[in-house]
Amino acid sequence: MNKPHNLDTSELQAIDRKHHLHPFTDSKELNEQGTRVITRADGVYIWDSEGNKLLDGMAGLWCVNVGYGRKELAEVAYEQMLELPYYNSFFQCTTPPAIGLAEILAELAPDHINRVFFTGSGSESNDTVIRMVRRYWDLLGEPQKSVIISRKNAYHGSTMAGASLGGMKFMHEQGGLPIPGIVHIDQPYWYAEGGDQDPEEFGLNVAQQLEATILDMGLDRIGAFIAEPLQGAGGVIIPPDSYWPEIGRICDKYGILLIADEVICGFGRTGKWFGSDYFGIKPDFMPIAKGLSSGYLPIGGVMVSDRVADVLTDKCGEFAHGYTYSGHPAAAAVALKNLQILRDEHIIETVEKDTGPYLQKRWRELENHPLVGEARGVGLVGAIEIVKDKDKREFFPKEGTVGGVCRDACIRNGLVMRAVGDTMIISPPLIITKEQIDELIEKALKSLDETA
Ligand code: PLP
Repeated sequence: MNKPHNLDTSELQAIDRKHHLHPFTDSKELNEQGTRVITRADGVYIWDSEGNKLLDGMAGLWCVNVGYGRKELAEVAYEQMLELPYYNSFFQCTTPPAIGLAEILAELAPDHINRVFFTGSGSESNDTVIRMVRRYWDLLGEPQKSVIISRKNAYHGSTMAGASLGGMKFMHEQGGLPIPGIVHIDQPYWYAEGGDQDPEEFGLNVAQQLEATILDMGLDRIGAFIAEPLQGAGGVIIPPDSYWPEIGRICDKYGILLIADEVICGFGRTGKWFGSDYFGIKPDFMPIAKGLSSGYLPIGGVMVSDRVADVLTDKCGEFAHGYTYSGHPAAAAVALKNLQILRDEHIIETVEKDTGPYLQKRWRELENHPLVGEARGVGLVGAIEIVKDKDKREFFPKEGTVGGVCRDACIRNGLVMRAVGDTMIISPPLIITKEQIDELIEKALKSLDETA
């Protein structure tokens, strides 16, 4: 076969149509319109095979935190692959990159978290967390504490367990999910679900569903509560200030393990290293992935608090769980270098003090557009709600249609912005400049005008 990059777009699309099944895609629709083939990237921009340049307002899939084209990351991958492309961390073995990465993660994580179990992705991290929670309670002689409480509209991955922890109905409908032992409470989505309540009162009420569920099901059955510090894929849903302190209080009161899924928030998205730092959460587990390597190679992990790790290590015997690619040396070397870049170039401080506040100020200006009911965000992540009537907080009847039109207008205007129903979301690379933020806002506004 010809090398794919020697082919023109229609030839590439024809092969793709014939042989490639895409994730989260309606294949029939895709086959009719053809795939966009992305061929290269630099900084905050990507190019397609037709030469169109797009500002990547989503950092790939929320992951390219240091931006595209960092030669140092390619170089460490190259050097590591020559030195030792693969070895596992099973059976009393490990490798220097896995050790170095574990060490820097312990330095960066909150003080009470000092150990990590490596995985290949965010979904694997959340599968791992379920096994760890259940193992922990088993070891403490309470194996019946196996139920994990999650939230409706949460996203925790695509494996059977990840999608079950997630609260996305359209995913549950395919494949008989959720698996047993997982229950979902409401999300703190004030704009869509808060009704007449004041946002803080709503945040408190929704958090208290955790307590009600614990009491209803019986404390002896509940092992943990899992949530993203802010819901990303669900539509960048930022909890009211009252929410997380109340969740923390309830977990403390009942001794429930708290899992903060940091797959999106981790590594600078909110202007802090972790979403837990931003919202003042004290988790027992932090699943991580994405920004850990800025997406340059696949790698994830579960960071574990001392109180849980001590039980898992001291009492556990063999933990019968692991992946061939746990601690993959090339991926770990890239992740380590990526974290050094984020730290040494003060990229997260810049998000916190400079580009984050600037984006948030400019992003709120979109609320002046007649279609935008709310513009919200923190750090370098944001959402706008496209609505039919902003005064009444009334959504369009067929959810997703207008969002799709806006997303397509963005692409025509050279901007990648994602549509979650009629919620438009952004999460650009953390190295975006103020000038590029201006460009993003200008393109978003033009696209909204074309959506109206
Ligand atoms: N957890 C969260 C919060 C995510 O946003 C995602 C992916 O978007 C995942 C887990 C799953 O990660 P992965 O796609 O690497 O399996």
